[in-house]
Amino acid sequence: MINVTKSYLPDFEEYTAYLKGVWERVHLTNDGPLLRELEAQMKEFLGVKHLKFCSNGTVVLQMALKALDITKEVITTPFSYVATTNALLWEGCTPVFADIRPDDFNIDADKIEPLITEHTQAILATHVYGNACQVEQIHAIAEKYRLKVIYDAAHTFGATYNGRSLLSYGDLSTCSFHATKVFHTVEGGCIVTNDDAMAQKLHFYRSFGHRNDDYYSIGINAKNSEFHAAMGLCVLPKVPELIAARRRVFDYYNNRLDFSRLTRPTLSPGMEYNYAYYPVVFDSEETLLRVVDALKAQEIVPRRYFYPSLNTLPFVPSYQACPVSEDIALRVLSLPLYPDLAESDVDRIAGIVNEAIAVSNVVY
Ligand SMILES: *Cc1c(COP(=O)(O)O)cnc(C)c1O
Repeated sequence: MINVTKSYLPDFEEYTAYLKGVWERVHLTNDGPLLRELEAQMKEFLGVKHLKFCSNGTVVLQMALKALDITKEVITTPFSYVATTNALLWEGCTPVFADIRPDDFNIDADKIEPLITEHTQAILATHVYGNACQVEQIHAIAEKYRLKVIYDAAHTFGATYNGRSLLSYGDLSTCSFHATKVFHTVEGGCIVTNDDAMAQKLHFYRSFGHRNDDYYSIGINAKNSEFHAAMGLCVLPKVPELIAARRRVFDYYNNRLDFSRLTRPTLSPGMEYNYAYYPVVFDSEETLLRVVDALKAQEIVPRRYFYPSLNTLPFVPSYQACPVSEDIALRVLSLPLYPDLAESDVDRIAGIVNEAIAVSNVVY
């Protein structure tokens, strides 16, 4: 079976060598030495000032909203993983959806300003598939209306925009290190800031608001363990190789797929991409379903990523139309992409896709 993604695993001995130290120290979690080492290495790798390694990429979104005191309206994207909207709802905020750009599926900066009201406090945008949002325009709008900017940068590890990690943009940026992401720690995530006081606040938030034996502030349990940090220490040095291998698969798809019958989102100029995903867009949902069936019949499992458009979720309080996002969500499919996906498999996948879309075009 070929899944949409496959986690990279380091050599078993490399991982267990770290565990030897854990056994010696009997320090399993709570700001341990491996976690601190991983944070230092990630800061260096990304070129960012403060980074807190946390338990996942969802709790860091919740921490970001809490740390910036966001409780009212937040302008956000309808085209992201459900965690982006859920974090807003969980924190009691009101998501206000700005539709996306038809070319790269990121939030459309031109659609943000008309949605701003006296209750708007922040913009929460996702760098979709690891491609930069219109960060300059978003920054300018935020300055003009004194809004905070949070980026869900879950897809961006190893990707840079204008020479800087995408995690360095906004008031706060968050990342996920879930097993399915470009860089992973099994489960994990981080929150990034340039602000010293904010970093201190997030440090306390991560660990119940604890400061030694005093309860210093509100907080949550967003800590991560030495076991997860050890995985991170094994995977991080491999990230450049993993991205290079992803790029080979990506380029191979580009050479094999029939682009007269499907399209792909564009990349922003200035991107040094991490090849996180390989989404393709078909002419209709019917074609997409035909492709999914054809692939599944050969034990190949693509993923409808993102589907559905988040503004249509039944638990979002009021429906706000986002026609571009709703349309793209019906027609976009992520094809399998991981570092050791064989060229022969990419050939096979592309062949099945090309055949299914050729058939569908005869039918219509
Ligand atoms: C993966 C992902 C998350 C959630 O991260 P977890 O670590 O699984 O909690 C949030 N937002 C986006 C855009 C994601 O892709």
